Amino acid sequence: MPLITQAVRGTRDVLPTQTYLYRYLEETALQTARNFGYHELRTPVFEHTELFERGVGDTTDVVQKEMYTFLDKGERSITLRPEGTAGAARACLEHGLLGGALPCKVSYITTCYRYEKPQAGRYREFSQFGVECFGAPTPAADAEMISLVAEYFAAIGLENYRIELNSIGCPDCRKVYLDKLREYFDRHTAELCTTCHDRMAKNPMRILDCKSPVCGEIATQAPATLEHLCDDCDTHFAQVQHLLTSIDTPFTLNSRMVRGLDYYTHTVVEFVSELEGLQSNLVLGGGGRYNGLVELLGGPSMPGCGFALGLERILLHLQAAATPLPGRENCELYIATQGEQAHAAAFNLAAQLRAEGIATQFDIVGRSLKAQMKYADKIDANYTCVLGDSELESGAVRLKNMQTGTQHAFKLTDLPEEFAHFLVQQAHEELTAMYE
Ligand code: AMP
Repeated sequence: MPLITQAVRGTRDVLPTQTYLYRYLEETALQTARNFGYHELRTPVFEHTELFERGVGDTTDVVQKEMYTFLDKGERSITLRPEGTAGAARACLEHGLLGGALPCKVSYITTCYRYEKPQAGRYREFSQFGVECFGAPTPAADAEMISLVAEYFAAIGLENYRIELNSIGCPDCRKVYLDKLREYFDRHTAELCTTCHDRMAKNPMRILDCKSPVCGEIATQAPATLEHLCDDCDTHFAQVQHLLTSIDTPFTLNSRMVRGLDYYTHTVVEFVSELEGLQSNLVLGGGGRYNGLVELLGGPSMPGCGFALGLERILLHLQAAATPLPGRENCELYIATQGEQAHAAAFNLAAQLRAEGIATQFDIVGRSLKAQMKYADKIDANYTCVLGDSELESGAVRLKNMQTGTQHAFKLTDLPEEFAHFLVQQAHEELTAMYE
């Protein structure tokens, strides 16, 4: 196939047969976040490369191997955002939100770009739902954002996942821990990959999430972060666990989970799919506390925490679990016409119906009546009617429910208002029947 008719490797088109599912996931996400006081933030797709080098960390896989970086025509180094947190922190800082009412809570739906090896659930362009909470240092903030994910998953019917929790401490206890790690990895230098040799000097914690199987195997026996927390970090983490338990949100401890990005401190969390048949341990999302990030970007010392979930993976999980999802909103009424006069009347009628919020279509191709009905069938129109000279003369039209075959008569002049009323009544009856 020629290149120009093929999407770039690792990118995907979301067709009209799927877009409404993403919209549902996104709207439910933002709504759930609003219930927790988060409001939507939109930031540019690209930022100065340095923001990610500093914010995400120049020893991370994301920065070292996966960024889409280029020089623009003004010779500036620009990077397509590989994640949402650094940009959100930058925007809140730039616009003074961190000097206003705290905590400052923002949510976002963004596309992210990483040059990774594409496979199921791993793309080079993917979308995330995330939240960031700045200015809240207490364990309640960590527990609240984790419970937001649990609420979101409940709202979309996502089950069969586990919450993995760990604490990677503060810079003070990290120092001691890093020495222990270096000591451990020193004994395995010969087996480590070349990137990890570099990490040994700069940040040995990154070796723990190296994707090479050999490094991964060595990492399983490495010292655990939880055994090296200082008293404050230990108390903070115990509180987070206590709060989650108090709202019946189960979690498992994973003392070797450190997350792939440099900005985390204290609590780190991952939401892992446990669905059988899906790629094992597919990580649906993750996050944690990042108390040093704002300062790292040149702002004041300010605590923060947040998470990001991958929407493609969430949809993969829901579909693999055959979770009921909303249907696409079909054409509510297709007006098939016969004759020029009826066609002109349909144009007018459709405008009035749409003004009532009813999704309406009529023939704009110039098809025969039979072909129009075939099309209405193909697009799964909920109702159809035929408008011809006799309907115009009598001033009445019959709407056919395409699923049941039942017909309903309406006066043409009243149709937009009466049909709108009729649909509300139908929806009400369906709901009542559901609860009987
Ligand atoms: P991260 O920023 O790496 O913690 O990623 C957060 C979430 O984004 C992951 O748990 C995934 O659900 C999703 N994600 C990360 N990278 C990809 C990718 N290449 N393709 C699809 N989803 C991804």
